[in-house]
Amino acid sequence: MDASLPMAQALAVKDGRIVEVGGTDEVLWLREDDYEVIDLEGRTVVPGFVDPHNHFSIGAFETLWADCRGARSVADVQRALAAAARETPAGAWVRGVGYDHHVLSGHPTRGDLDAAVPDRPALVMHFSHHQCVGNSRALVEAGVARATPDPPGGEIARDKSGEPTGLLFERAMSRAETASREAWEARFTEVARAASRRYAALGITAIQDAAVTPAMARRYADARAAGALAIEVGEVMVGARGWFERPDDAAPGRLKIFVDGGYRCAMRVLRDGAPRTSGFLFYTREELTALLLAAWRADRNVVCHAIGNLGIETAVGAIEDAVRTMPEGRARVRIDHAIFLTAELIARIADLGVWVVAQPSFLWDRGGAAAPDRATDESIRVRPFASALRAGVKQAFSSDHPCGSNAPLVGIAAAVTRTSREGRVTAPQEALSASAALEAYTLGAARAAGIDAVAGSLESGKRADLLVLSSNPLECPATQLASIQVLETWIKGVRLNPP
Ligand SMILES: [Zn+2]
Repeated sequence: MDASLPMAQALAVKDGRIVEVGGTDEVLWLREDDYEVIDLEGRTVVPGFVDPHNHFSIGAFETLWADCRGARSVADVQRALAAAARETPAGAWVRGVGYDHHVLSGHPTRGDLDAAVPDRPALVMHFSHHQCVGNSRALVEAGVARATPDPPGGEIARDKSGEPTGLLFERAMSRAETASREAWEARFTEVARAASRRYAALGITAIQDAAVTPAMARRYADARAAGALAIEVGEVMVGARGWFERPDDAAPGRLKIFVDGGYRCAMRVLRDGAPRTSGFLFYTREELTALLLAAWRADRNVVCHAIGNLGIETAVGAIEDAVRTMPEGRARVRIDHAIFLTAELIARIADLGVWVVAQPSFLWDRGGAAAPDRATDESIRVRPFASALRAGVKQAFSSDHPCGSNAPLVGIAAAVTRTSREGRVTAPQEALSASAALEAYTLGAARAAGIDAVAGSLESGKRADLLVLSSNPLECPATQLASIQVLETWIKGVRLNPP
């Protein structure tokens, strides 16, 4: 990934940093006597993967919470929650994660959850993490009742009589979601220790946690002080009142702003010749411009979550307006997800020169299926990676784990093959080369995360974060990319995997 030396045969590491990269003879010649020589027998070494949009602080709990990702029915969700309830300590909410309402043919209801967990609050999160279902106790504790109005930017689903069904969308889930994690967060150091090693085994050496509450930032500080984080984690802060709420100044640092919803992202599509909007848009262009300028003036970088074409258009318009006032802001903002694009939006993003952080693994997990309303509007392109690259968009990749598959090689395979787990191909003309996909998950990702001075490529002076792979992703057949094994993971010159 070093443009001046894209391929090399050997490298030397000292004190956790790369000190030489070159031909074998050259590097051996330069070594001092006390270097240990490791012969990889021709295997491939690549930079450690960087994941600039990962939800480590919720994914780390996956071993403690009910895993509903494989649930085929509401009964499966109930069984998983009932089992998790037996392991859930007193005072903590029973948590489930990852159900897919397509597979269940609908969302569970609070009654379904009450039957599984009658006596304490329980909440099961949709795979998108933008909608969830609570049982009756959860709704009481979160202050959701028949008389509760829908908050701006959210919706409380109700039955015909007006009674909440338990299903909460976007900002309507802020209180329940925050409360459901509170007691668990005390165990963060413990789960982070194990989770960061799982990440390293997948070849991930640095991430950014894309939504960290002020309370969780304190947990991160504890985990770091305990030496529990095996990989580098940078935090992107959300406000204290919940992920999708208007950001506040409760904690400094890189700021996350949700411009639109997730599963119900803000779309504008032509239907029968007339424009029709749908989904949740959290800010107007003017409001977002003001938020960007305030963040930049406070010396903060900003990550804009924008998924639907209307959400992306709002983000792009606000960035255009804000950089007119503060041109230096251009380097202090990026757009994450950018799923539903148009040729016009691609061109405007390329002109702005801001980073886009996209998630190819969703093509693998769900075959590219997403918002219900992309409809038949021909102008909308879903994850148009090749078009974006051709237009000059700075494009990095990430997982959005646990919403998407954590393994970077799965993401790379999906970007190259545009093929789902079940073999469905989506817009094959938008496929990238293996080298472009690899770059987007290493050097591009490091640049988008602002850590390219130390990570993302194997260059003298950078951290020795590197992987030994079972085969060369630039030479193996595209269909085998997802099954490449990460044989070894080295971070700062120390082998973490295998231990
Ligand atoms: Zn995310």
